Amino acid sequence: MSTALTLDQLPVREELRGKSPYGAPQLDVPVRLNTNENPYPLPEPLVARIAERVAEAARELNRYPDRDAVELRTELARYLTRTGGHPVAFEQVWAANGSNEVLQQLLQAFGGPGRTALGFEPSYSMHSLIARGTNTGWISGPRREDFTIDVEAARRAIADHRPDVVFITSPNNPTGTAVGRETVLALHDAAQAVKPTMVVVDEAYVEFSHGASLLPLLEGRPHLVVSRTMSKAFGAAGLRLGYLAADPAVVDALQLVRLPYHLSAVNQATALAALEHTDTLLGYVDRLKAERDRVVTELRALGLDVTDSDANFVQFGRFDGPGGQHAVWQALLDHGVLVRDNGVPGRLRVSTGTPEENTAFLEAVREVLADLR
Ligand code: PMP
Repeated sequence: MSTALTLDQLPVREELRGKSPYGAPQLDVPVRLNTNENPYPLPEPLVARIAERVAEAARELNRYPDRDAVELRTELARYLTRTGGHPVAFEQVWAANGSNEVLQQLLQAFGGPGRTALGFEPSYSMHSLIARGTNTGWISGPRREDFTIDVEAARRAIADHRPDVVFITSPNNPTGTAVGRETVLALHDAAQAVKPTMVVVDEAYVEFSHGASLLPLLEGRPHLVVSRTMSKAFGAAGLRLGYLAADPAVVDALQLVRLPYHLSAVNQATALAALEHTDTLLGYVDRLKAERDRVVTELRALGLDVTDSDANFVQFGRFDGPGGQHAVWQALLDHGVLVRDNGVPGRLRVSTGTPEENTAFLEAVREVLADLR
């Protein structure tokens, strides 16, 4: 039965009225470089291992899964310890369905009505959307013209707004900009000087960075959180597995808001299989970094303004002609290449694909530029 009821006629919360959901277009075009996915499918031996582990899990699907995901968190801690330059214990790790859910749980625990979160924009739009969904006030902090964070301006924003949570995305999405250790430390200290503030470093893309993870900063800083995901470097966006490292007390806080059994047994088994193949999966990261650097170089050779990237995507522009960046987005789509318009004036973002996809993208850019000039 359809009632032709519209969303606006429902008694939704005031702050959700007239808003649109998050949504990158999922269009069926030859070259899809718009959601920063890893372009390489999982290798066959891993697919077989996932089938095996999921079969084992299936035999017990009549039971609820391990609510605390102990085996999975232990393996994630092992991965972080091996690659992050700092020992991380199982008690410091928490996992959920994508880092989006991790971030939501953080705001459920540390944000909420009467509280605020601050992020330096342009940045990952889900930070502000999750703030809205959890009834946390949102403060848009500043960035410089070149998209780096100006520590002095950031300190002032923190002192003026006294946020309860500060997001630092490094490497940043959509700009690709890494945030240095000194900057993170300065912002962390500036926030603590005002009041106890949770500082969340979103490292979704850190495996693609030229620099190191900020995990070692966790030592002695109980208000610092580093969030990660298996969606990018591990090439498992469809799995939905994100995680964080922080003080064990932060993990205790998240257990107050997480739904019981939030991580299904199938999900835990799949993630564990993927972690057994960490070295193979991370092998793709080097290829993607080399391709990302090629895309940066070739776009610059075409005379475009390209933001330095530490991620698996590249921000390029400027497109200030009629229709702005959106006209160029459409023109690329007409050439069969889907990139992302994140609403940053004059700029677009392209994810790093396979060498063939990147070449097709660069060719499309050449053609579109020729038409524009
Ligand atoms: N953080 C950043 C900066 C992202 O760009 C994304 C995904 N685009 C996420 C977190 C969330 O990823 P997931 O939920 O797949 O872990």
